[in-house]
Amino acid sequence: QKQELLQLVNEPSITQDGRRVELAANIGTPQDLPGVIQNGAEGIGLFRTEFLYMNRSALPDEEEQFQAYKEAASGMNGKPVIIRTLDIGGDKELPYLNLEKEMNPFLGYRAIRLCLDQQDLFKIQLRAILRASKYGKIKIMYPMISTVQEVRQANSILDEVKQELAAKQIPFDPSIEVGIMVEIPASAMIADILAKEVDFFSIGTNDLIQYTMACDRMNEKISYLYQPYHPAILRLIKQVIDAAHRENKWAGMCGEMAGDPIAAPILLGLGLDEFSMSPSSILQIRKFVKGVKYEDMKQLALEALGLGTQEEIKALVQQRMRLEA
Ligand code: PEP
Ligand code: MG
Repeated sequence: QKQELLQLVNEPSITQDGRRVELAANIGTPQDLPGVIQNGAEGIGLFRTEFLYMNRSALPDEEEQFQAYKEAASGMNGKPVIIRTLDIGGDKELPYLNLEKEMNPFLGYRAIRLCLDQQDLFKIQLRAILRASKYGKIKIMYPMISTVQEVRQANSILDEVKQELAAKQIPFDPSIEVGIMVEIPASAMIADILAKEVDFFSIGTNDLIQYTMACDRMNEKISYLYQPYHPAILRLIKQVIDAAHRENKWAGMCGEMAGDPIAAPILLGLGLDEFSMSPSSILQIRKFVKGVKYEDMKQLALEALGLGTQEEIKALVQQRMRLEA
């Protein structure tokens, strides 16, 4: 079985009736690159940059960040590498920033909120990303976006940094794509508006489920409420994909759900363009994509959206795909 999967390493991810999707990898450091290549990823859909900032006593400087981003960009040989700007806060603390303790860290001062407040820190990261963009196909992604203003503000800071680099004749990709994570229900609800402001969406289901269900993603006691196939989640996902497509933008997913074999038929059927997951899941999902027709998955997704509970939706997919329960 492993042999069979390994034969798919260099194959495109395309359904029997010709719908092509991109299967990408999530990484936490450039050290993950060998696994990404071995598993045939068509790009990096999420480069979490927190590792650069954690387990140390001071902020990483521009040069150190530049080296890490450059390594990822050149290692992927021209395939897309989506670098997510800092998503610190929440459960991930940085003692040297001396942040106040919060009652609800997951609803608090984190990610883009912190970056827009501490612009020096944000600009250093953007400068490092832009400089690395000369060495491959880098895209920038902002986490935890909940308003249009946040996107505009982040983009105006990005423009400032671009102008500073240009003035010093430091090279970067001037047409670098910029997208956002859709992981807060509010941004899924205004996806039609946000789609006009960005080049792409990537749905962060880990947080989107947590916030939609009001269910801490770490709390075992209520884990039964952490429901990826809850109709509310599927409706939000559909809304985000449709909104992107109406503006001729693409929509991906980088939460755990993107590598889930039960979710895959529905996500493919809803028109998801890019699936970014742990490298070890890629070949299995590619095998699935190559084995089905997009038209059948569209039909299945439509049926799933007509059901009222996660259990019914799961049962429908398992029965139709003859997946093990
Ligand atoms: C997500 O929220 O789905 C996501 C991919 O981001 P993280 O898991 O890093 O919060
Ligand atoms: Mg998240």
